[in-house]
Amino acid sequence: MENRILFLAHVDESGKTLPKVACEVLGAAIDLAQQCGGTLAIGLIGREVQSVADSLAASGAAILAVAGPEFEYPRYASDAAAIEAICRATTPQLVIAPGTSRFTRAMAGAAQRLNAHIDTHITSVEMNEGAVVAKRWLYRQRMEALIQREARPWFLVLDSGCHVAWTGAAGAAEIQLLNVDQPANARRTTFCEMRTPSSSTQTIRPDAKLLFVAGAGWCKKQADGKTHLPEAETTILEFLRNSGASLGGSKSLVDQSGENQAVLGFMTHLNQVGQTGATPRHPKGLSTCCHGEEPHVVGWRFINERRAVNLDPNCGWARGKADVLYVADAFQVISKLNEMMAKRVTHEEELVPQP
Ligand SMILES: Cc1cc2nc3c(=O)[nH]c(=O)nc-3n(C[C@H](O)[C@H](O)[C@H](O)COP(=O)(O)OP(=O)(O)OC[C@H]3O[C@@H](n4cnc5c(N)ncnc54)[C@H](O)[C@@H]3O)c2cc1C
Repeated sequence: MENRILFLAHVDESGKTLPKVACEVLGAAIDLAQQCGGTLAIGLIGREVQSVADSLAASGAAILAVAGPEFEYPRYASDAAAIEAICRATTPQLVIAPGTSRFTRAMAGAAQRLNAHIDTHITSVEMNEGAVVAKRWLYRQRMEALIQREARPWFLVLDSGCHVAWTGAAGAAEIQLLNVDQPANARRTTFCEMRTPSSSTQTIRPDAKLLFVAGAGWCKKQADGKTHLPEAETTILEFLRNSGASLGGSKSLVDQSGENQAVLGFMTHLNQVGQTGATPRHPKGLSTCCHGEEPHVVGWRFINERRAVNLDPNCGWARGKADVLYVADAFQVISKLNEMMAKRVTHEEELVPQP
């Protein structure tokens, strides 16, 4: 019987809200507590936690926190100490936490200190025939494992995009603040600044509704026997600006960028989708100038609705890999879409009274 569940979260960079993945994982923790009839406690870490705690008041869970300037920024030593303190105060059997980069670094060490077991990259957790069952993907998302453990405490770190985010009315929350002494050697690492990838445009947007994938075709000779790289760059960037989509790339395209050929300047290996790339989660995906070979398409496992634009009616997408294939020139299709979206943006701006 699981009767003590602890949900852990840290405040996001704004200092006022939880990361989106934390709201999703809280939804999973609340569902689990209901399924097993257990009690849920919430543990928060951050410089200031009151406004976040207030936003969670409707969850009905007891809220504990470790707060103060020493806990504002990610740092293994202070985060692990804070997690340990919250766990010792609540003695949970299950600890459920979001897989943010901050927690991913500290959670395993904290579990070790508490003699707990930990599983990461969990995609769901639920009661099944009286036992807690967690799921995760293995072997590049080809096999799904169902995990049960006798050992407690059991830490489960959940991935983003796997549960509906919890929402509730804000209220006045009471917080039990815990004191965590930070010896000098736990404060040696200091936070300097946030650095984003060198590309001038932030193209990877995990929360976007649409994944836009560009393939090597954008850089190939077109019907006139010439390449059109500047046009490809502006067309893709304009589409990303208009649509708010996240940018993915095929291996062929990102490899060309890496080899310093004159290709799309904003495309890096971080954008690569596929067997040796990423497996992003988005409700929809649009592939352009990409053949749709299996090693690429395995990265689309979590894209629910798939469309592709390709000149070749026999490309991989036509073989059951996309819901809709437009046999068309992607330069023309995306330019037309840009035109339509620009008109829509202008029209919406006209409707909003300007101050
Ligand atoms: C072990 C292994 C791991 C791999 N891992 C990955 C991976 O993680 N990710 C990945 O992407 N690949 C991976 N690959 C490579 C993969 O098999 C393909 O080689 C790669 O995905 C091809 O990229 P592409 O479709 O962009 O290029 P191409 O195969 O060159 O296709 C270009 C496409 O563009 C179309 N095109 C050209 N011009 C236009 C136009 N104007 N309008 C519309 N369409 C146009 C063409 O018809 C063509 O289909 C892996 C391969 C191996 C062996």
